[in-house]
Amino acid sequence: MKKLVLASNNAKKVKELQAMLAPFGFELVTQGELGVPEAEEPHCTFVENALAKARHASRLTGLPALADDSGLCVKALDGAPGVQSARYAGEPKSDARNNEKLLAEMTGQENRTAHFVCVLVLVRSADDPRPIIAEGDWQGEIITEYRGTHGFGYDPLFYVPAFGKTAAELESGTKNGLSHRGQAIRLLAERLKGL
Ligand code: IMP
Repeated sequence: MKKLVLASNNAKKVKELQAMLAPFGFELVTQGELGVPEAEEPHCTFVENALAKARHASRLTGLPALADDSGLCVKALDGAPGVQSARYAGEPKSDARNNEKLLAEMTGQENRTAHFVCVLVLVRSADDPRPIIAEGDWQGEIITEYRGTHGFGYDPLFYVPAFGKTAAELESGTKNGLSHRGQAIRLLAERLKGL
């Protein structure tokens, strides 16, 4: 098995990605297990932040590295909260306060369209000149009240018209089949096959 360091310590992500990468002969280790501190995420695009995290993890471990960056982009808010999604309402990060802020910002807005974005970046080495990049995009609308209890983050406000449900009302299997993250993971798997 080839070792691949994951630039995240999120247990759910590790499990999901490990299952997807095992068939390609990769064993995932989190950067935390290797003593790598979290990287800065100073950029204004998802892809730049994911790339910065992957290069940082690879540089400090000497291993290939995988990083992701994701968030919600709302059309009426010029793409906000965007890369600030986790900390939209400031520190300490809180899904509840982020959702309250989103509802407040969306008061009176007619255009309620939004999309979730997930970018996965894999570098074979810290200075890899050709990283593997996979992006997923999930379209929906921001509703005016909370619905559903599954998921996390902005899921209770993210309505998926084709299903007549919010992301927080979807079973996790259904969400993974549709979501930005699910799409990006499947795309990355395709890219790895071609390597
Ligand atoms: P991160 O990429 O794990 O740091 O996630 C960034 C932030 O985007 C999360 O804290 C959530 O606020 C939001 N987000 C990303 N993906 C989802 C999702 O699938 N559902 C709801 N919120 C999400």
